[in-house]
Amino acid sequence: MAKEIHIRGVVQGVGFRPYVHRLAHTHGVRGEVINTSAGVTLRVEAPAPALDAFLAALPREKPPLAHIVAVEILDRPVDGYAGFSIRASRADAARTALISPDVAVCDDCRREMFDPQDRRFGYAFINCTNCGPRYTIIDDVPYDRPNTAMRGFTMCHRCQAEYDDPADRRYHAQPNACADCGPRVTLLDAARQPLPGDPIVAAAQLLKEGRIVAIKGLGGFHLAADALNDAAVERLRARKHREEKPLAVMAPDLAAIAGFAHLGTAEEALLGSIQRPIVLLPKRLPERLAFSVAPRNHYYGVMLPYTPLHHLLMAQGFTALVMTSGNRSEEPIAIDNDEAFERLGQIADCFLVHDRPIRLRADDSIARRADGQTRLLRRSRGFVPLPIFLKEELPMTLACGGELKNTLCLTRGNQAFVSQHIGDLENLASEAFFGQTVAHLERILDIAPQALACDLHPDYLSTRWAKAQTGLPVIQVQHHHAHVAACMAEHQLTGRVLGLAFDGTGYGPDGTVWGGEVLAADEVGYERLAHLACVPMPGAAAAIKEPWRMALAWLDQVYGEQLWDLGLPIIRQTPRDKGEIVLQMLRRRVNAPLTSSLGRLFDAAAAIIGLRRSVAFEGQAAMELEMISDGRAQGGYPFAWHPGAIKQVDGAAIVRCLVEDILRGTPAFIVSRRFHDTLIDGWAALCEALRDESGLGRVVLSGGCFQNTLLLEGLGATLRARGFEVYSHQSVPTNDGGISLGQALVAGSRKKKA
Ligand code: ZN
Ligand code: ZN
Ligand code: FE
Repeated sequence: MAKEIHIRGVVQGVGFRPYVHRLAHTHGVRGEVINTSAGVTLRVEAPAPALDAFLAALPREKPPLAHIVAVEILDRPVDGYAGFSIRASRADAARTALISPDVAVCDDCRREMFDPQDRRFGYAFINCTNCGPRYTIIDDVPYDRPNTAMRGFTMCHRCQAEYDDPADRRYHAQPNACADCGPRVTLLDAARQPLPGDPIVAAAQLLKEGRIVAIKGLGGFHLAADALNDAAVERLRARKHREEKPLAVMAPDLAAIAGFAHLGTAEEALLGSIQRPIVLLPKRLPERLAFSVAPRNHYYGVMLPYTPLHHLLMAQGFTALVMTSGNRSEEPIAIDNDEAFERLGQIADCFLVHDRPIRLRADDSIARRADGQTRLLRRSRGFVPLPIFLKEELPMTLACGGELKNTLCLTRGNQAFVSQHIGDLENLASEAFFGQTVAHLERILDIAPQALACDLHPDYLSTRWAKAQTGLPVIQVQHHHAHVAACMAEHQLTGRVLGLAFDGTGYGPDGTVWGGEVLAADEVGYERLAHLACVPMPGAAAAIKEPWRMALAWLDQVYGEQLWDLGLPIIRQTPRDKGEIVLQMLRRRVNAPLTSSLGRLFDAAAAIIGLRRSVAFEGQAAMELEMISDGRAQGGYPFAWHPGAIKQVDGAAIVRCLVEDILRGTPAFIVSRRFHDTLIDGWAALCEALRDESGLGRVVLSGGCFQNTLLLEGLGATLRARGFEVYSHQSVPTNDGGISLGQALVAGSRKKKA
């Protein structure tokens, strides 16, 4: 019997051909395997039972980095192959083959690295076909050494022999290297002078003394400090100008993590996965790590070591190291040695660097478990550039994403390539990084977009960038439509759905700021069915940083001038003159745009309850409101809406009940839970009413508010109990990191129809 098999997916540069070669030998199968432009083709011959066994084992025993998308098996005449061979790639190959993301060091390499008898003992750049850098070292395709950051390193004869031997586990491992021929680590002080001793041992010693060390990693620099040393972590925060946002930590192994955080089996698997994301884990109380690692937060962001260098460093005896992005506040992470000294020189006491260049930055990915699923809050290292598979093929489109937590997205056929996390497009450095990422992804994916997609907001840097490109149509997609579409894309939904898009801010076509929206949406358009009734946002952007302003806006809706007589802490703490200015602002609608944002209602509720008047980062007040909430369901306040073509949810009634509850002396943790229950029961009831009118029974949940686990799980469970099909984000973020995918789906679908 003879077959021809076409395999599509990530099957190049991951040891797939040698794997097929070995498997063919095991099963007595003859034939050949060859890389093609789309993946790998096999021509195989053997008696039927042997061939069946071979075909059954093929996907099951595949190398860890291989990712099979499609397998097509065709009959062919018997050719009479004598043996099995790996044929050289064709020159035109690999243009549409998928590129592997960067992958954590594998167990085999780790064992060799810690084996004093091994020739790579203690070598910080050990790798093989199953592990190591990929995306962050590629300049161009095909993925061959001259097209990577390894170009400058010539393999010694022993490395070359491994590279050339199909039976070796480093066969065609492009970053293959050893201490004789490969990259090296150096420890430098802030004046760029080398420090004596073994660089890793010396760096560990400095960390133990409380110093801050900038460490060059896979996709950029980290800033490291001993996570048990509060003074060191405080110093890092002060120098980095990062006052309150939680800092990620790296711990040597699961046992160490179990000492300071709660671990479930799903979390363990996620931590140990080849992507090695930062995983949000509930803290063990009392807190075991320094207070300043994650102040006033119930979670730690934790990851396991993923490069050989990390393993060598962690083996020096740490419980946990803070490992936060090597940047100043919101700038992109530093990747280049010179850049690091320039930008991190005021932050780090010394620099643990190496000479393997990073071609494209990639921050650590962030994941959590919620409502029974793994959810990415930031999709970056380890996941990019694997595509999201769309239901239908679309014209090639470049979607430029939103403003905050920006990503971009390129489509090719039914594949959507969402970029790594680019960050907040608020400075020149981020804008430059955006441009580099567009150029880089277009080159390595061989995509020439036929259309551009961007937000409706005229002032987003991403919108301006799109409009400045010449020769391509620009399709603008409303922010919350993009949110809903992103979730539809992920779940391959087509046709109309009820889209609940809850977030902080998005440009509405009616000139108001949207963010508490129920849309009837499909992949082309949408209709606004309902939203939170609008209130003015006094000071616009200032109202995001200062939730007390939103509290006044809502209290003014309910109480007007009498708000000053309320015995609420938020009122007592607001100087009358300052408060009056804000009230004038919002009553006269000067610099006070109307908003239907649910995120801003969360801010207001947190401020009224007395949690905080101002925030260090967007969403902080809402997050703390969730954190203090009592675990037991309490039953909510009344939730009503004004009927009409577009229903308006009466937020003022909710605020009134919340205030009365506080004035009755109800503890904050119960008030918080009631507030959440109000939204869960209320929006679910509204969905039922809208289902009666529209017949839509599929609900899509998207937007930054669904990072709130209480809301996500509560609303999900309630809607499912009432017979809805509920969809939420898993593989792209529910925050604005997912916007580009939604834009791409909408713009591509519109272009296709046009
Ligand atoms: Zn390996
Ligand atoms: Zn070598
Ligand atoms: Fe948003």
